[in-house]
Amino acid sequence: MHYIGAHVSAAGGVDQAVKRAVDIGANAFALFTKNQRQWKAKPLDDKVIAAFKTACQHYGFEPGQILPHDSYLINLGHPEAEGLAKSRAAFLDEMQRCEQLGLTLLNFHPGSHLRRISESECLKIIAESINEALSQTRGVTAVIENTAGQGSNLGYRFEQLAEIIEQVDDKSRVGVCIDTCHAFAGGYDLRTDASTRAVLDEFEAVVGFDYLRGMHLNDAKSTLGSRVDRHHSLGEGNIGSEGFTTLMQDRRIDGIPMILETVEPAIWDQEIAWLRAQANAAGN
Ligand SMILES: [Zn+2]
Ligand SMILES: [Zn+2]
Repeated sequence: MHYIGAHVSAAGGVDQAVKRAVDIGANAFALFTKNQRQWKAKPLDDKVIAAFKTACQHYGFEPGQILPHDSYLINLGHPEAEGLAKSRAAFLDEMQRCEQLGLTLLNFHPGSHLRRISESECLKIIAESINEALSQTRGVTAVIENTAGQGSNLGYRFEQLAEIIEQVDDKSRVGVCIDTCHAFAGGYDLRTDASTRAVLDEFEAVVGFDYLRGMHLNDAKSTLGSRVDRHHSLGEGNIGSEGFTTLMQDRRIDGIPMILETVEPAIWDQEIAWLRAQANAAGN
């Protein structure tokens, strides 16, 4: 079963996101559970929590079909004590919000070394941050997203994702989300059927599909290996549509939320329908 959707707005309350997903024909969605550009947020209201759970039940969304994304400000690999403590506290809050909402996944960008520490040191700090958050929460899996590798952001190579996972104590609650635009900008060629299958083989060898808990399906305005993060609508960018057909038809990818973060929300319904048609054509 393929769960396909988009990162919808939670304006007016997280419960409002559910109907927005339904309206575009989605059976998966992503959302922010707080303003993604602010450190602090007021706690979730009990009424909103109840409304969210009711809406999910009503429209048939299980927790595994929902992929919340954390704040962009958080850097779990921060090289300095103060910045790291602030990030860890904010991440714990994000995990706890997921717990409250009955959600089981939290998608986040691993972190940045800010050119002050080595890559391996930063990856170690990220893993420690994850260990800390997991030890203080229950039932929520930390889902590491690969990045485009812009600036000093880590996680643009599958090896870096594997290095973090290796140092996480509870392997049952750590996973990854592959963003196709980020992967392409990080140097993974998703332009053809053959090259996409080779990337998936590489992912299988380095990380393993057991850890794949979600995908972000975005075409790229940026070029292969550019380390620049610029999303585009499916088929409109430098990846093109062939690779997305391959992704929807590969048997190794199943039962995870596949989320659009493309640039034209007005055509998300069409993009979802197209993705679903690709999957159906292969009997997936
Ligand atoms: Zn992201
Ligand atoms: Zn993404």
